[in-house]
Amino acid sequence: MNERATMKINSQGKLEIGGIPASDLARRYGTPLYVMDETYIRQVVRAYRDTIARTYGDGNMAYASKAFSCKAIYRIMQEEGACIDVVSGGEIYTAKAAGFDLSLAYFHGNNKLEEEIEFALESGVGTFVVDSYDEIEILERLCAARGTRQKILIRVNPGVEAHTHTFVQTATVDSKFGFSVRSGEALDAILGAASKSHLDFAGLHSHIGSQIFDKQAFVLAVDVLTDFAATLEHTHGIAVRELNLGGGFAIHYTAEDPRYNVEEYCEYVRNLTRALESDVARKGITRPYFMIEPGRSIVGEAGVTLYTVGARKEIRDVRTYLAVDGGMFENIRPALYDSRYEVVLADRAFDPIEETVSVAGKCCESGDVLYKDVALPKARRGDVLAAFSTGAYGYAMSSNYNRNITPAVVFVRDKESYVAVRRQTYDDLIRNDQ
Ligand code: PLP
Repeated sequence: MNERATMKINSQGKLEIGGIPASDLARRYGTPLYVMDETYIRQVVRAYRDTIARTYGDGNMAYASKAFSCKAIYRIMQEEGACIDVVSGGEIYTAKAAGFDLSLAYFHGNNKLEEEIEFALESGVGTFVVDSYDEIEILERLCAARGTRQKILIRVNPGVEAHTHTFVQTATVDSKFGFSVRSGEALDAILGAASKSHLDFAGLHSHIGSQIFDKQAFVLAVDVLTDFAATLEHTHGIAVRELNLGGGFAIHYTAEDPRYNVEEYCEYVRNLTRALESDVARKGITRPYFMIEPGRSIVGEAGVTLYTVGARKEIRDVRTYLAVDGGMFENIRPALYDSRYEVVLADRAFDPIEETVSVAGKCCESGDVLYKDVALPKARRGDVLAAFSTGAYGYAMSSNYNRNITPAVVFVRDKESYVAVRRQTYDDLIRNDQ
């Protein structure tokens, strides 16, 4: 657990989030429960925005809402002056319903459906991040029919691949996202897009991966992208007025990861703006508007999932399973990526550690083991178990597998809590059944 002012173990060994004991939240709202620390979310967004303003000036951040999307988070981003990244008609719809100013939205997707493109245009989405030749044609046709001109970025692949602690530079890149810079596809796409009268080519977008610890990977991407911008500007007379460097900044999940605080995220940004500033001067290119697009680092550590402990199964000399009322339907990441997390008994954090157990979900699936090999005091039926850093790609990837209902999402702030997303009911499960 990465303690901070708004999330700590109090003197009685009880976990508190936003000044409220986690077990009180569990009692009041039921479990499983997603708890989001709103103060922390706002702190990280402010840190990103302030650092960009102080170190570069002209720029902003877009919250990658795929990490966690609901009306409450879009309202927070609006209040904080941040942009958002959306990847589907559904995310656009949710942001719109929250009253978010969609001129500040970046619309992503490798296969935006024609009806999603129509909906985005109708809703006034500010920027399309174009990711295929088809999209260039469809967008041009739809904008021509509407008599409008749409700002676009082209998503490019700089050939820098980052995998958590390391990165590699690959000459040929096998990815469904982006146009490769090295293969010449990116240049082709941009020349095509720039010739369209209803598209306003504003610049480049790149996203090199997720949960990246190695800051050098981003610096290398800036180098490749500014080289490419120089070719575009000096050889083809096309200026890159905006450069969006994507997201991917890492967070703390387990003891093996660094314990980042908000200052560390400022360091990621400073690295990028420093590299960009120096490349712009050295390569003699137009100074672009600076964008980043973090998701996980904003909501990941803000989220804690609370469970109630149920059945215990001790398999002698093999393993002890401790089952909880959640499972892969509310956190698919362990089953999907073998992701690891830290857990604690919410009211017994100071009790001596007595055993190593694997926390199992309740789904009818052997692979539904949420938190493998975690050290805990001897947990009793009814104890509240808290898992940390679950705010990103948890609720966002939830499902109704086994017809389990999606837990509620509660936001906490200054000792107050409110339901941002209510718990589903069984009626929700059959709402669309005919
Ligand atoms: N931007 C794009 C295009 C992405 O695909 C992603 C994540 O996959 C993000 C931003 C956010 O990344 P992260 O949540 O790791 O910050």
